[in-house]
Amino acid sequence: MEIDEVVAIVIHELGHVHHYHLMKITCIVFVFTIFLLTIFSTVYREKSFLEPFGFSHQADFVYVFVFAAIFDPIDFFLSCLFNKFSRNFES
Ligand SMILES: [Zn+2]
Repeated sequence: MEIDEVVAIVIHELGHVHHYHLMKITCIVFVFTIFLLTIFSTVYREKSFLEPFGFSHQADFVYVFVFAAIFDPIDFFLSCLFNKFSRNFES
């Protein structure tokens, strides 16, 4: 790798720092995590949450498993939006 290429990469990364990209991404991930935990806390240990899926066993991991399975398609959609958002930082 040539020195000019290294300088270009460093300047590019410093541009991310200058425009607070890491701070913006951290805030978005924080808000999303709080949102996700809030939703999970409303269904956690709610017997009616597991019944439609045929689970009568109420171990904690079952709540996590079912919630993760339900959330997976939503997570895919949100991941696409997040990638679109973060790719905008590269221009
Ligand atoms: Zn970059």
